Amino acid sequence: MSARDFSGILGDKRRSGWNTAASCTKEMEYRAWKKQNGAGESIRTSLLGYGCMRFPTTPEGAIDEPRAEALLNAARDAGVNYFDTAYPYHGGQSEPFVGRVIAKWPRESFYLATKMPLWQCGSLEEAQHIFEEQLRRLGVEYIDFYLLHSLHAARYDRSFGFSCHDNAAGLEHILRDQPWDFCQLQYNYLDTDDRAEEISGDRGYQLTEELNIPLIIMEPIKGGTLANLPPEAEAPLRALRPEASDASWALRWVGSHRNVHVILSGMSAEDQLTDNLATFARFEPLTAAETAAVEQTAAFLHSRIKIGCTGCRYCMPCPMGVDIPDNFSIWNKLGMFGQPETIKHQWEARFPDAEKASHCVRCGKCEAACPQHLPIRNALAQLQQELDQL
Ligand code: SF4
Ligand code: SF4
Repeated sequence: MSARDFSGILGDKRRSGWNTAASCTKEMEYRAWKKQNGAGESIRTSLLGYGCMRFPTTPEGAIDEPRAEALLNAARDAGVNYFDTAYPYHGGQSEPFVGRVIAKWPRESFYLATKMPLWQCGSLEEAQHIFEEQLRRLGVEYIDFYLLHSLHAARYDRSFGFSCHDNAAGLEHILRDQPWDFCQLQYNYLDTDDRAEEISGDRGYQLTEELNIPLIIMEPIKGGTLANLPPEAEAPLRALRPEASDASWALRWVGSHRNVHVILSGMSAEDQLTDNLATFARFEPLTAAETAAVEQTAAFLHSRIKIGCTGCRYCMPCPMGVDIPDNFSIWNKLGMFGQPETIKHQWEARFPDAEKASHCVRCGKCEAACPQHLPIRNALAQLQQELDQL
């Protein structure tokens, strides 16, 4: 399936959805979209968008529908008008659940975003079938913002885009290829360089600005990690605004970039929603002193990284099944953020035993392949010891 083929699937179902009357309140920060390819006039999105991948759940793991619906309603009532879901979120239950909630709202009062699961599309027909299924699941006749989910340059030659999990070079390849309406990237104050795979950093942001492609941001709080900083890391922030939450700093940093049109936050509890709404009510971009404080926090966190693994995976596969970059990633999280209880739980309950560092037999194959020349074997031994002792 080529990129150009794909546009036929959407047809009028994408464009007819652009509306001009999305609900708004006086307090919420909104960003207006410039015309893109003759469409998109008068689009005004709330700077805070609702990411529908982290709803509160029941002990069995299903979406806690009464709580999640109350969160969605409260966000909408506070002026949030952008809701972002995807085919696989919550094991496929996010789209049908969101569909049941938005069925009670006037369709023109919000913007709905979802994404094509590229990995499930072998042909144009399959993509068409999935798209129709998404419309049924969501109970809508059109989708306002439609993304191809998780595009990489390697996947691009047979697909069409896009939310992007690639570095700046991969992103640039895709961005320059066609006149995109918008794109969705990960961006936060900790990942501003593009050394790590899957992150395009400041360079990615600058490219979208240069090419005039409006930007939607995902993971502004880095999966929640920037919402719970160790005391030394948050000291520069507390010195300026003692009452402000760590999350509010991360969100304001992202929102201070003028080409950012929506910031998605997957809010899974009432206090998160309340805090985020306060941040986006009468939104204040960071001052120069505040930006400097955030940079100080980022520099402190970077200084605590245990090992400079970029996640490139050139060292993989390990013949013993060790997932080397995943082991390093959890170790680095421990180094940067502390939070031993959370990391202990992730290590014990969520990290597959078969992929742990302990299976390393020190063959050295990975070290020969690592472009960063990391001392992988010794680091694996050390991290296994540290994480087991938590
Ligand atoms: S040294 Fe250890 S981690 Fe590296 S490839 Fe060999 S067994 Fe796997
Ligand atoms: S250990 Fe080296 S090769 Fe493996 S993912 Fe990290 S940086 Fe890449």
